[in-house]
Amino acid sequence: MDRLSEPMPQSVASPALEAPYADHVNPQWVRLLDVLQMNVRYERCDGAELHTADGRRILDFLSGYSVHNTGHNHPRIVAALKHELDRRGPAMLQTHISDTAGVLAARLCRSAANGTGARGKLNKVFFCSSGSEAVEAAIKFARAHTGRSGILCADGAFHGLTCGALSLMSDPYWRHGFGPLLPDVEAVPFGDIEALGSKLATKRFGAFIVEPIQGEGGIRIPPPDYLAKAQELCRNSGTLLVLDEVQTGLYRTGPFLAAHRFGVEADMVLLAKALSGGLVPVGAVLMPDAVYNSVYSSIKRAIVHTSTFSENALAMRAGLATLDVLESENLGPWAEKLGDQLLRALREKLAGYEMVKEVRGAGLLSGIEFQPPRQMRLRVPFEAFRCIHEAMFGQVLVMRLFRDRNILTQICGNNFMVLRIAPPLVVSEAQVAEFVSAVHHVVDAAHTSNLFWNEALGMARRVLNI
Ligand code: PMP
Repeated sequence: MDRLSEPMPQSVASPALEAPYADHVNPQWVRLLDVLQMNVRYERCDGAELHTADGRRILDFLSGYSVHNTGHNHPRIVAALKHELDRRGPAMLQTHISDTAGVLAARLCRSAANGTGARGKLNKVFFCSSGSEAVEAAIKFARAHTGRSGILCADGAFHGLTCGALSLMSDPYWRHGFGPLLPDVEAVPFGDIEALGSKLATKRFGAFIVEPIQGEGGIRIPPPDYLAKAQELCRNSGTLLVLDEVQTGLYRTGPFLAAHRFGVEADMVLLAKALSGGLVPVGAVLMPDAVYNSVYSSIKRAIVHTSTFSENALAMRAGLATLDVLESENLGPWAEKLGDQLLRALREKLAGYEMVKEVRGAGLLSGIEFQPPRQMRLRVPFEAFRCIHEAMFGQVLVMRLFRDRNILTQICGNNFMVLRIAPPLVVSEAQVAEFVSAVHHVVDAAHTSNLFWNEALGMARRVLNI
């Protein structure tokens, strides 16, 4: 069959149903999903599996960018939410004390203290409704606590797209057209302890905000002692170390926080995404009493930083049920074990393919980094497609995995040469094996089949509308 004029997959969303979305929400998103042949109608999502209206069963190895640690629609979390609605309790009164917020905060603090039961340094929680909002709070709280306006961040970071969070992201794609952003923000290369040391020595920075493992930056794992040294440097210079664990937290990399992998206790920890089972928006900022008290310093300032949806009943209830599931199903140790198996299997299967640069990861947050081929036969089409768009190669991999092998994944938002691998932590060994075989098949095609490159041409034509 001529791959360039290939039909859309049968499960493509119905034009009649999606017309209002294209008319009133985001037509460019519809176009993009169409180009990628990923615009399908999902009907039912369970665990790590997504079922389409026309009977396809797709394995989710993206997890909504680490939202679905507990799997899609976990029955215990769904039941907890139904129970919360049925009990007709107080919600968003803005004038009451939320019991569930207190219990959830206590559990988060205990888990952040590495499950020792000991009272850790992180002893207060500010709840909000997204990762970006957690970053915004961290910026304000760090400024209030230290009296310094400067915020330090790392190149390649992803912290969210509100103006404050966006100010901490150096990638021009996200920033273009939205300036001026926050002043007094500077970036250092991720993992470079000397660069960090010389910036911190100026004592101008209230916080160093960093992901322990960069997610959108390409599943970048810092040198093993980087975060511990960063913690020491921050302490010596009076700067707060803020770990953005929006993607890495909630057992994604094995322990409750990725910080635990590195033996670090940050001054603030930011959580969101997976905290409410992928069903309700939520965010949380964990911090010591002293930081909290610098903001909520008197009765007059009791609500100086808050939001309508903070501590909302459904998010808090979902948060508690999510922790129950993560803990009782031992999903952290499972992520660690399956993550190791996955890395080993991928390394074995992909060894010898010249475009595979590295397979790396921690727990069930992994990535395959690709590199330009050396062989002229592959180099010519590779460069041609890169000229059209840097993401083209990765997107063809993603498209082929999705269309031909029923695997949902994506490339990293700030590093298009890295395919991210982040299934729900409830994924089974058989599902991991299926994923490895699918990736092997597609990577092999990229190295051996002209059809793979013709496919890219087809996609380029659809993008350029020719
Ligand atoms: N921090 C990190 C590390 C993220 O990956 C993201 C989102 N991808 C955010 C913050 C922003 O979270 P949200 O989209 O919920 O605002």
